[in-house]
Amino acid sequence: MSDSIAGTVIDCLEFARSGGVLERNVGLDELPRLAELLTTTAGFLSVRLEGWRDDQGKSWLQLDIAGAPVLCCQRCLGGVKFPLAIRSRLQLIAPGEDWPDDDLEDDSADAITAETALTVLSLVEDEVLLALPIAPRHEQCESPLASASGHGASPFAALADLKKH
Ligand SMILES: [Zn+2]
Repeated sequence: MSDSIAGTVIDCLEFARSGGVLERNVGLDELPRLAELLTTTAGFLSVRLEGWRDDQGKSWLQLDIAGAPVLCCQRCLGGVKFPLAIRSRLQLIAPGEDWPDDDLEDDSADAITAETALTVLSLVEDEVLLALPIAPRHEQCESPLASASGHGASPFAALADLKKH
């Protein structure tokens, strides 16, 4: 029994029509684009993908992702744990079907092309990357540059240092 979704490909509309459900843990080391932003690829994300058709005949996917990847702080370069709790609702648009009018759609859902061979892992990685902060930082920390070379410190402190010698 494999617990991985590496290589799992779904036909979106078929997945929705059959009420498909996928529940897996995805190792952070399975997500190369995300891994580049992390201080460690140990750990995993809990992923749940569910499909259904509503009574208007629309097809949907709902993707839930939870986990706490450790990002690299842009100030001190240390690890910042970033709790993730993503829920994405995606309306599947079949070829030839009209795209929903943005103004009429509620903001909680996006529309995507109903691919016949959707790589689940790529969808998961895309959603996680969208949810991450552009410049992750600790709420409070000190730049190692600032403390090591005096950058950012008061010029008077540097003068006082000189006088001591
Ligand atoms: Zn920091």
